[in-house]
Amino acid sequence: MLFSYRGALRAGLVYLLASSFWIGLTHRILIEFLDNPTDLHRWLQMRVYLWVALSALLISLICARSAQAHQQQQPLKENRERLRQAAAVFDCTREGVLVTDAKGLIVHVNRAFMEITGYQREDVMGQQPSLFKSGRHSSNFYQQMFQTLEHTGEWSGEIWNRRKSGEIYPQWQTIRVIHDDLGHLSHYVAVFSDISAIKDSEHELAHLAHHDPLTDLPNRLLFTDRAEQALASAQLHKRGCALLLLDLDHFKIINDSLGHNIGDQLLKLVGERLSALFGPGVTLARLGGDEFAVLAENCSQVVQAAALAQRMLDEMKQPFIFDGHQLFISASIGISLFPNDALSAEQLLRNADSALFKAKSVGREGYALYTEELTAHAQNRVEIASELRRALERQELRVYYQPVHDLHTSRLIGVEALVRWQHPERGLVPPGDFIPIAERTGLIADIDGWVMDQACRQMCQWLADGLPLSFIAINVSSRLFARRELYDQVAQVLHDTGLDPAFLELEVTESAVMDDPEVALEQLHRLRELGLRLAIDDFGTGYSSLLRLKRLPVQKLKIDQGFVAGLPWDEDDAAIVRVVIALAKSMGMQVHAEGIEQVEQARFLLEQNCDMGQGYWFGRPMPALEIDWDRAPAIQA
Ligand code: C2E
Ligand code: MG
Ligand code: MG
Repeated sequence: MLFSYRGALRAGLVYLLASSFWIGLTHRILIEFLDNPTDLHRWLQMRVYLWVALSALLISLICARSAQAHQQQQPLKENRERLRQAAAVFDCTREGVLVTDAKGLIVHVNRAFMEITGYQREDVMGQQPSLFKSGRHSSNFYQQMFQTLEHTGEWSGEIWNRRKSGEIYPQWQTIRVIHDDLGHLSHYVAVFSDISAIKDSEHELAHLAHHDPLTDLPNRLLFTDRAEQALASAQLHKRGCALLLLDLDHFKIINDSLGHNIGDQLLKLVGERLSALFGPGVTLARLGGDEFAVLAENCSQVVQAAALAQRMLDEMKQPFIFDGHQLFISASIGISLFPNDALSAEQLLRNADSALFKAKSVGREGYALYTEELTAHAQNRVEIASELRRALERQELRVYYQPVHDLHTSRLIGVEALVRWQHPERGLVPPGDFIPIAERTGLIADIDGWVMDQACRQMCQWLADGLPLSFIAINVSSRLFARRELYDQVAQVLHDTGLDPAFLELEVTESAVMDDPEVALEQLHRLRELGLRLAIDDFGTGYSSLLRLKRLPVQKLKIDQGFVAGLPWDEDDAAIVRVVIALAKSMGMQVHAEGIEQVEQARFLLEQNCDMGQGYWFGRPMPALEIDWDRAPAIQA
């Protein structure tokens, strides 16, 4: 429409007035100036035509101007319309929108921006978007973002920002550079969406793909993956790992008789119980059915793996209680070791599986190692460890005494106390079979304490009986040697038994002394203050520093039986023994040779001026009552 209604009415009125004014005015002028009626009449007609022509010209001029104005106004209107639409979109969109000026100061944000970030418009106006930084990205990340913006005018990517609440969240963001008509950078527009929900579901999907839904433990996929990583790291650090496969015995019967629901609940409880058993460095997984796998990192010893298996089996033996049911179950375990049995996770799993089969076939409720002999060995040691504790309580330990003779007079002058285990089924077990296990399980302190107490009491008895003994030697484990309690323990035994410390000789091994010479020196001095004597056992097997040896308050060196065995024919052994004797003498120590089985050995030692000796040739270790006190075999031919 060219005009509005009011405009048209106004124009009609103006036209009417102008016409009336024209008619009135021209009429007056013509009457005034023309007297001739014919002329007057003609001019009166002509002024009408003239008015029509003039008003037609005026109307066409106005129409032309109006059309021109309308034409000019059209794009402006359209623009305004478009802007209104854009503002509506800007405000309704679910994506957050943020506009900054060329200096990077915020000039606009939309409603979604406020909903996502928690900031109000007035909080952020005039601020820089760095206000939202999460701290998750390096400065390098932002540098690259601005470089891309500079070169391409646009950047899209995932970015972690911080909401007003402080929570950080991921967003997908597109930033675009806006230029004005002259091509100068005028604004930056960032459009972003909150993708935390997508991330969460991605995470959930990944969890589902790698975990068993029933127990929430890692599944086979994740287990194999973790095992591969653990093996790679173990290889690098030269460590061992153990893979254990546990399978419940007769699980099918439980499932068939009590239903799958109970079966599922049981599997869940088994998973929970096993998880509670392990700390860091152990991965537990459910591979499927009633099969669980355990990867123990840093488990290089067969015995460690076997002990772990035993703990798992013991744990399974406790009743499972749920829904008023009390269920007793058992399990079998197959063990395979890295790197001894296999180098890859897959092969370890296969080996553990065949070991599991073996465990099941020999009667279930036990474990088996991939190699048979190891199984027997490890089982033996684990059994010993658990039985040893009871052995002390049940008084199954015995102290045997081995005579020590003066080589010059052949007389029996002392004894060495050596522990034995009178096992109800295994018979008399030698210390070599259980002392190392006792050392590892921590029982050694109790054992050595008990032996010391028994031996000191026995010595008091012999002295009271008038036997001419000058010492009783007792072995001290190297594990105890580094501990301060050893001093208290020895002092307590001396106090309890009333033995004169001058009759007590403590034997410590060369390695115990040399492992930490400073601690050893302090410990030896403290023990010496009690008034007892000290001997270094198995001398020659360690790597003693002669300088350190000289500083030790030790009165005796016991030459290891390994050197005595070759005497007198083995030249190396003979040379070593000669040197050790000379060394001991030069340091003012006594020398004592062990393992003398033949008279020639005793003779050689006597020739070298060795002070005393012990060995089967003089007498084996035996119970106190069996010692022949008068035995003095002649060494000289
Ligand atoms: P050791 O202290 O060097 O004891 C000497 C070992 O050599 C004893 O073995 C003894 O029976 C053996 N022996 C003695 N004479 C001969 C011989 O002529 N030929 C041979 N082949 N062997 C001989 P046993 O009693 O089996 O003890 C072994 C080791 O166990 C001991 O070596 C000692 O280190 C340790 N041990 C024994 N009793 C105890 C104890 O009560 N506490 C601690 N911590 N260790 C002990
Ligand atoms: Mg000894
Ligand atoms: Mg020895």
